Amino acid sequence: MTKFIPAITKLIEEFSRLPGVGKKSAQRLAFHIINMEQSEAVAFAEAILDVKRKVRYCERCFNITDQQYCDICTDYRRDTTQICVVESPRDLIAIENTKEYHGLYHVLHGAISPLSGIGPNEIKIRELIIRLQNEDVSEIILATNPTIEGEATAMYISKLLKAVEIDVSRIAHGIPVGGDLEYADEVTLAKAMEGRRHLNTSGQ
Ligand SMILES: [Zn+2]
Repeated sequence: MTKFIPAITKLIEEFSRLPGVGKKSAQRLAFHIINMEQSEAVAFAEAILDVKRKVRYCERCFNITDQQYCDICTDYRRDTTQICVVESPRDLIAIENTKEYHGLYHVLHGAISPLSGIGPNEIKIRELIIRLQNEDVSEIILATNPTIEGEATAMYISKLLKAVEIDVSRIAHGIPVGGDLEYADEVTLAKAMEGRRHLNTSGQ
């Protein structure tokens, strides 16, 4: 078997770590880099470093930003009485693309999953509760994924909020069970937001 020189092997290894990249693809990407112009390769490496240096979480909603607060939190036209709770920044973007929702968000960065050892303290639930104490919120929309983990997370949060005077709703299931918000088409997602059902009676 032919062996690559160490520098190439290393690059192939690094590409193999990326989601959805198999060994064959990793080799193809590595050889693409080898054939790049020097300036192109530098720009590519710089882009990776730059994103790691600049990207941070919004201190209010935990969306991805390069400022203290994200574009949505600092947009005065948004309805600050509504918070839509999502698992990831990519889900937030999916909902933004529907153009149907004009409130704020809260990004959990995961979902409760006892099997993977992810409990409520491993995701941004405590931060959500703190926001509710400090902000004037009247509606929470639980837009976690329709997976076992997403449902468990929505249930957990709705139970936590039972005692408070906030309208809590769960997005409807236009989205197939086991699916991912990120991959739902805009119409399905807009319908799911529209058809959300209320989990408590306060605030209605
Ligand atoms: Zn924000």
